[in-house]
Amino acid sequence: MDVCDSENVLEEAMFTPERLTYMTERRRLEQLLRDSERKLAERVGQLEAIFEAMVDGVIVFDGQGYLLHMNTAARDLLGQDTQPNYFLHLAHERPSPYEVRDEQGQPLFVEQWPLLRVMRGEVLTGATAVDVIIRTRDGREIQLNVSGAPVRDQDGRIDGAVMVMRDVTERRRQEQHAKEALHALLAMAQLAVQGPEEAKISVDETASQAEPAAQEIAQSLAELALRVLGCQRLSITTIEPEMEILRPLAIVGLSPEQERQWWAEQRQNESRLADALDPLFVQRLRANEVVLLDLAKPPWNALPNPYGIRTVLVTPMSIREHLVGFLSLDYGGAEHIYTSEELALAEAVAKLTALVIERGRLVQERAEAQAREIALRETKGQMDEFLGIASHELRTPLTTIKGNIQLAKLRLTHYMHSLSLGDDEIQENLTEIQTMLDRAERQVNVQNRLVSDLLDISRIEVDKLELRKEPCDLAAIVLETVEDLRSANLTRPIHLELAQYEMVPIFADAERIGQVVSNYLTNALKYSPADSPVEVRLKKEGKLAYVSVRDEGPGLTLSEQERIWERFYRAQGVERQRGFSLGLGLGLHICRAIIEQHEGNVGVESTKGVGSTFWFTLPLAEPNEQAAG
Ligand code: ADP
Repeated sequence: MDVCDSENVLEEAMFTPERLTYMTERRRLEQLLRDSERKLAERVGQLEAIFEAMVDGVIVFDGQGYLLHMNTAARDLLGQDTQPNYFLHLAHERPSPYEVRDEQGQPLFVEQWPLLRVMRGEVLTGATAVDVIIRTRDGREIQLNVSGAPVRDQDGRIDGAVMVMRDVTERRRQEQHAKEALHALLAMAQLAVQGPEEAKISVDETASQAEPAAQEIAQSLAELALRVLGCQRLSITTIEPEMEILRPLAIVGLSPEQERQWWAEQRQNESRLADALDPLFVQRLRANEVVLLDLAKPPWNALPNPYGIRTVLVTPMSIREHLVGFLSLDYGGAEHIYTSEELALAEAVAKLTALVIERGRLVQERAEAQAREIALRETKGQMDEFLGIASHELRTPLTTIKGNIQLAKLRLTHYMHSLSLGDDEIQENLTEIQTMLDRAERQVNVQNRLVSDLLDISRIEVDKLELRKEPCDLAAIVLETVEDLRSANLTRPIHLELAQYEMVPIFADAERIGQVVSNYLTNALKYSPADSPVEVRLKKEGKLAYVSVRDEGPGLTLSEQERIWERFYRAQGVERQRGFSLGLGLGLHICRAIIEQHEGNVGVESTKGVGSTFWFTLPLAEPNEQAAG
């Protein structure tokens, strides 16, 4: 035992047991206190470290609004180091260096500042947290999301405030962009569904007037797409279906002067897809690939680059896997990394654009079709009127002339009969007059025929060849026509081959069918040698009646056989016989229209230098059609 130990023993020996217990307890408590103080200091240190390390700005105020604590994040946010004394002012007396505004950018009155609201007892958290825009002392404009709560003393009185602020500038910008993009996409989708004010492309607009509507749609699409993609310039080009000519439709992102120049250049340099662009690039577009062009690399670096563009993103626009155009966009000279979201968005925009343009094209086509139909209806109306006037104006004088000629001929015949025989000179004069009258009558007949043909053609053009169909006998029609032509061409051998006494019932306009037989027969007589025979046949073939007229005339080549049914077509080198008038090449065209309107067919078999057989078929009348008559 050393000296010290012996002293303690001595001291303790001097105390009563109570005193000893007290002293032990006190030492233990003192030790505890020291431990607690150490721990507290550690804890405060930890808290301060956390406080400082927090990414959100935290500011603690006392009951009068004086600053107690402010972490680094808050200082960084507010640029506080540039104005150290700011919080020495009373809260409501502080000058307003921050130009505090609400999220719409409207100035915020001092009473509405988040700190003062909290000091009045409001808790701002979650949905009630406030967005404010401030301009910091170091000149930045930032948007802060501020939350906060009052600090209360034991009696519940407000004794301070804790405010927490977070920089949401970037997030809000992105949210705003996403919102705008969504609106723009919605507007585009709406265009795709409804079309741009359908009324703009009204039915009475002509194609040339409707064209600007397509450009207008494209322009608004381009503006929307520019907003969606947030790029600097954007253009839409369509590809014309057949020749694949590139048609720029819209450009956005240029100054008015640049835009004027751009359009002038586009108009000057009209080009085709294959000629204008690199073959590999075209191939990729056709494969519906989005292509990024580096304008610093060949072949693109050879092109003029007036706006100093670095890269161009070209997105194909396709309809049913068919390339109908493309959308080009750029972010100017800045390096831009295209994210996969941006590429997907560009594709979506291109798809929508293609749909909208396709829709516009269809609407325009419909409008044009309607316009055409209206025009056609009008033309038909005018044509009806014309036909009425024409028949009257042309036929009436001809009928009158013909009537006068016939009357003159009749009188002449009477007069010639009443003349005493032997007056040869007068007889001769009168015969001459008679010949002249005959010629005049023939000419009037020719005129009449031409007028009829022209009117028939006009009627066929407007589907106005009216038929009076009724049950009739084709054998009788053919026989009658042959008889008529025989009497007018007494020297010509016309053979008729038909089953005697057998009716060939058809449901038809007898006069029009007679016109066809007459036309075939007249042509056969007109175009074959005067001494050659002409043969007319009529037979039944199953449910059809078949009529043919055969001649031994010049015959027709295959291509002539095809073309003789066209309006105004006359075969070269086919000479008419004397006594027949010149035709206009309308007869066969009319024949075909008449027969087809009776559900029949026409045709010709011919060999050059041998002769021709013109034929037509007609359906035989059903028993009920016969009965209907
Ligand atoms: P056209 O009034 O000129 O006879 P068509 O329409 O009846 O008009 O005939 C058209 C053309 O077809 C005639 O101009 C003629 O060249 C040719 N053609 C018509 N019938 C015959 C025929 N039987 N033989 C040879 N050519 C014919």
